[in-house]
Amino acid sequence: MSLLDSLRRPEYTGERRCWPCTAVNGFVVVVAAGILAILSFPVGVLALGVGAALVYLRGYVVPGTPEFAPRLVASLGVESLFPHADGGRTRRSDDLTDEAVDGEELVGVLFETGVVEEAPDGALELSEEFDESWEREMAALRDRSDDELAAVVADAAPFEAAGERAYGGLSIEGPTRAVWLSRVHGIADAAAVRALAEAGVPERYRAHATTPLRMFVETCPDCGGDVVETTKSNCCGGSGSVYESPDDEVLACESCGAVVYQFDEEVADGDEPESA
Ligand SMILES: [Zn+2]
Repeated sequence: MSLLDSLRRPEYTGERRCWPCTAVNGFVVVVAAGILAILSFPVGVLALGVGAALVYLRGYVVPGTPEFAPRLVASLGVESLFPHADGGRTRRSDDLTDEAVDGEELVGVLFETGVVEEAPDGALELSEEFDESWEREMAALRDRSDDELAAVVADAAPFEAAGERAYGGLSIEGPTRAVWLSRVHGIADAAAVRALAEAGVPERYRAHATTPLRMFVETCPDCGGDVVETTKSNCCGGSGSVYESPDDEVLACESCGAVVYQFDEEVADGDEPESA
């Protein structure tokens, strides 16, 4: 591991870089370097260089930045300056469903068709066959542009719809129903509908299974990274996500920060598959 790699913090840089955090830190570094430069010009220049490099490699240098910077930027009312501040991460995806389906009936169908099975500890798990088939479908959609993906998701929707990219995600709109999905959920759901069809799950159950199935995702639908259990406050990822229910337990991608599943979703609906 090189020195640069040991300094780098991927959780706050790259696609996961929080622009409010970066801007606030850039401002602090410039002001601090300016003050130092008055005392000693070379020291000021050095501080500017080191500070800028650290913000670049580590996302921020001021301790605690993810806790205050997004809030600070939000309070200044300048979020619109940050194109990523309203990314798909902060907005919650809808279910890709139309009519209601009984939760227990759905789990029964998923059992019968071999999509899920009972794990040794008694919980539900995906069958290896379905897991592989779903993963294969996700991998096939990963490279599509947002526009192409929106069309695929509209095709998978159980209602007549056309898709387009909107609000940092995918808008699936038809005459009877309109839903919004983040890109990561669009990939997961469209791939799940295809894999469920392959498994022989009747059409009326397919879309309804997509949201609960997201709970079993282990590989990021969008980037292929590892999905881990975390809380929202651990994935900085833009203003909004940090202080809007920061303690919500989520499954999120370690590489890109996308929230794959939010644990209260199914509990609120009263049809969490695990309870069946
Ligand atoms: Zn990812």
